[in-house]
Amino acid sequence: MPFSNRVVNLKEEGAYTMLARAQQLEAQGRHILHLEVGQPDFDTFPHIRQAGIDAIESGKTRYNPPAGLTALRQVIAEDASDRQGFAVSPAEVVIGPGAKPGLFFPTLALVEPGDEVIYPDPGFPTYSAMVSVAGGVPVPVPLLEEKGFSFDLDAFDACLSPRTRLIILNTPANPTGGVIPRGDLEHIAAAAQKVDAWVIADEIYARLAYDGLEVPRIASLPGMRERTVIVDGFSKTYAMTGWRLGYAVMPQPLAERVGLLLNHSVGCTAMFTQYAGIEALTASQEMAEAVVEEYQRRRDRMIAGLNAIPGVHCLTPQGAFYAFPNVKSFGMPVRELAMRILEEAGVALLPGVDFGPHGEGYLRLCYAVSPEQIDAALERVDAILATIPHN
Ligand code: PMP
Repeated sequence: MPFSNRVVNLKEEGAYTMLARAQQLEAQGRHILHLEVGQPDFDTFPHIRQAGIDAIESGKTRYNPPAGLTALRQVIAEDASDRQGFAVSPAEVVIGPGAKPGLFFPTLALVEPGDEVIYPDPGFPTYSAMVSVAGGVPVPVPLLEEKGFSFDLDAFDACLSPRTRLIILNTPANPTGGVIPRGDLEHIAAAAQKVDAWVIADEIYARLAYDGLEVPRIASLPGMRERTVIVDGFSKTYAMTGWRLGYAVMPQPLAERVGLLLNHSVGCTAMFTQYAGIEALTASQEMAEAVVEEYQRRRDRMIAGLNAIPGVHCLTPQGAFYAFPNVKSFGMPVRELAMRILEEAGVALLPGVDFGPHGEGYLRLCYAVSPEQIDAALERVDAILATIPHN
């Protein structure tokens, strides 16, 4: 075996695989609608772009501390204190190139080989990848559609053990758009304390919540902040996916370890992107708020359109920018169905199984695309599904 156990089972994120196939078809002259990759179609807001340009022009292009610029850590600490409802200090904030390092490095810092890690199925593919790289035992727990895609708490309880070291939560979630209700968070918090487990709360979509919903936060519950890593970032809220800027808030001793991992892996996060991040958090939030309103309109358009297709049922997601329709009535493996929709209808979307076995029977469509593209995609998907019998 030429490679270590840490990497042999790694697989590419499904979105990249689907994008590559869609691009091949485009190279052959096909017109493809891209609903597979989860990123805003807006450009980074102009004032944030300008802050990045100004930072480059004024020479902010050098090494800086591995855990990030003090000025940005300070701004994030203030913002996190407001949102979480407790005082966060800059020493508890670790900045990285994207939110992913805030998931990956705390996992490496906490999980010993053989430790069990609970995470949602279907869930963001990086969770199982980072657990296996850390040598942990993956313990996927199913989400239930009838619970708005929150955990099946009976299954969760059955998966809990004295070996549970870490519980990963994502709210609002990729790929389902589900938000974990406060009651479920309380249940999970009590369980984490009982078995003395850590929690990683991936809240990267927490500002993209609809109908005025305030996303409940597990770190705010009693006894939780000292065992929780809160992961957030700039990619989704500020349309900054390619800038690579994210952060995590965690107890200071863990933050120091994660800082060392950053020091010896990526070195540090680009300085000029961090200046853009300071601008993003300190300037008016008007544009970010307007974008959330726009996503909500697109969500409503997408969900209404999906539910109008015979055989398709789609819950209304409460956050993020994904629709996760149930297509079980077609009785076809969703990977096959997604490929047919791409090849025959020219709509790139993802099969739910890209996010775990319990994603079978669902598709993921990103609605962070223009209303015209949503309408065109719905029309094409409707036409192709009309040729497939359903019950
Ligand atoms: N968490 C979730 C749930 C995500 O969907 C994504 C991006 N697809 C990330 C983390 C990673 O964000 P970033 O690009 O900032 O690393």
